[in-house]
Amino acid sequence: MKIITEEALNQAAECLQHGGLVAFPTETVYGLGANALDPIAVAKIFEAKERPTFDPLIVHIASLSQLDDLYAKPINPLVYELARHFWPGPLTIVHQKSDLVPGLVTSGLDSVAVRMPSHPVALKLLRMAGVPVAAPSANKFGQLSPTSYKHVEKQAMPIDFLIAGDDVAGAVGIESTVVSVDNDVCSILRPGVITAADLQKAIPGLIVNVPGENVKLTSPGLLNSHYSPLKPLYFVTSDQTELPVNSGIIVHSATAKVLNANKVIRTSDNCNLLEIAANLFASLHQMEDDDKVEQIFIERLEEKGIGIAIMDRLKKATYQYKADR
Ligand code: AMP
Ligand code: MG
Repeated sequence: MKIITEEALNQAAECLQHGGLVAFPTETVYGLGANALDPIAVAKIFEAKERPTFDPLIVHIASLSQLDDLYAKPINPLVYELARHFWPGPLTIVHQKSDLVPGLVTSGLDSVAVRMPSHPVALKLLRMAGVPVAAPSANKFGQLSPTSYKHVEKQAMPIDFLIAGDDVAGAVGIESTVVSVDNDVCSILRPGVITAADLQKAIPGLIVNVPGENVKLTSPGLLNSHYSPLKPLYFVTSDQTELPVNSGIIVHSATAKVLNANKVIRTSDNCNLLEIAANLFASLHQMEDDDKVEQIFIERLEEKGIGIAIMDRLKKATYQYKADR
């Protein structure tokens, strides 16, 4: 793995053109990219991440004209309307795929997920490479998402180039909102910082389905357990008075109780949801890396607005440790 900076981006772009793997920053999390139209290159992503092939990938583009190669014609006008409001940015749009997109990218589905990231380095790399780039998060399957190149380095995956730069923290920090479009209805498949209310505000009258009691929306790859640190992670309960020895705690306001934790990380001083999302994975990585911490506790959030997306990640991150409590 060669770690390069933005100045040497042309090497990474050439590598993508020739079927290699490049880890690059985006405003959500670090991505592990390969030419989306080259099935052998895409296979390397699944191999490096040890990701099951039933979990489809998101294809990244730098220009709207690239949609012509990716989506089947006719492209629903709602796609362009969503793109006009939210691209570049953390919104992924699922639509019928063209024949050019390999089945491995979409796990055999007849639709493909596409996003135009807003991170300047990602956009520059995509423009230089000139190919659409399939990129899931640059971590081993099921583990914490990386928001800094150091988090990617720690995973020791077989990557050709890793682009070093500033932390993504301070930007979005959690994975994109994923929506599918069907006629004039938009369905949220995965919550993110762009909420149903944001979609409706941008496009007045738009019908937005959200997963809930009455609507079961399915998207492959949305597993119960995901985004987990290598140490047990639990929600701290409101009536909890003590933590086990050698616990770390992650809280979201300056006034939160920290109990007897021997390491405390505050994602925000005043429960600012955008700030919490931006700092979420970095705080979990810091706990994972600290030898003083044997288990991690984290405060819950109200499941409203962006809180839905953050709690979605945290419920999956705590899932595998539930039985141990
Ligand atoms: P990530 O792991 O962040 O790259 O996001 C990939 C996720 O996007 C998958 O796990 C799916 O939940 C969703 N996704 C990708 N492609 C599709 C598709 N064609 N249909 C529905 N959901 C998709
Ligand atoms: Mg991921």
